[in-house]
Amino acid sequence: MRLNRTNGNNGGCKRKVVTTSWDDGDPSDMKIADLLRSRGLAGTFYVPITGYQGRKTLAPDDLRTLSSWGFEIGAHSLSHKSLTDLSGEELVRDVTMCKETLEQTISQEVPMFCYPRGRYNRNIIEQLRRAGYKGARTTRMLSLKTDFVAFEMPTTIQAYPHPRMAYVRNLGRARNIPGLVDYLSELQHFRSWVELGKELFNQVLKQGGVWHLYGHSWEIEQLGVWNELREMLDYIANRKDVTYVTNGQLLSLVNESTMKSQPLSAVGV
Ligand SMILES: [Zn+2]
Repeated sequence: MRLNRTNGNNGGCKRKVVTTSWDDGDPSDMKIADLLRSRGLAGTFYVPITGYQGRKTLAPDDLRTLSSWGFEIGAHSLSHKSLTDLSGEELVRDVTMCKETLEQTISQEVPMFCYPRGRYNRNIIEQLRRAGYKGARTTRMLSLKTDFVAFEMPTTIQAYPHPRMAYVRNLGRARNIPGLVDYLSELQHFRSWVELGKELFNQVLKQGGVWHLYGHSWEIEQLGVWNELREMLDYIANRKDVTYVTNGQLLSLVNESTMKSQPLSAVGV
């Protein structure tokens, strides 16, 4: 079947995994946490220290609460500037300080990072490694792969009503030609992100793979799509033979032998 290609070579692994991640540390993340918790779903909250575009961020107590509920807190830079715009020292300071600040707040290791605006390059990956991170999430979509590079963790679907061209552009930037063929031939007729998300989840149920939902609670609030999100979460929750993990747990879970430790290429997106 065509979508084996999107799924990548996972060495015959039929493991079915679901993870979710939520960016920007908006106080509405607590509402997301409630929705996940009540359905037994796991997730990672990526938090910029000083907030995104002057928005309020989760209070230290909120971060400790999320952590005590079993959610992962990940780093999302100090002030949500694109890391590709930062100079050497500033870059080191940014990725190091956001990790340290969060670790002090929750008294736990923070192994995951999420690139602000999805932008990164080889040097940024190197600085993240030196700062002690184990992996980083990108904004690439429509992936079901289990054999991704640790510092280029892709996603499957964003909780956002993207027009079709946004998916095409996203796949093009990642130079994902098989993904582009799959999208144009099989996926583009799905009329909403929830329908597309369900179809991709069904493929994971059939073939194995990782289904990764990401989003921004402030955007879900702004667009008023909480009901769509509930529908999506209801569909993927409490499924037999599916493992529900945080992004950090996903890294540990995927077979180390199929996981490439070095990025194939430095891709600025
Ligand atoms: Zn962000």
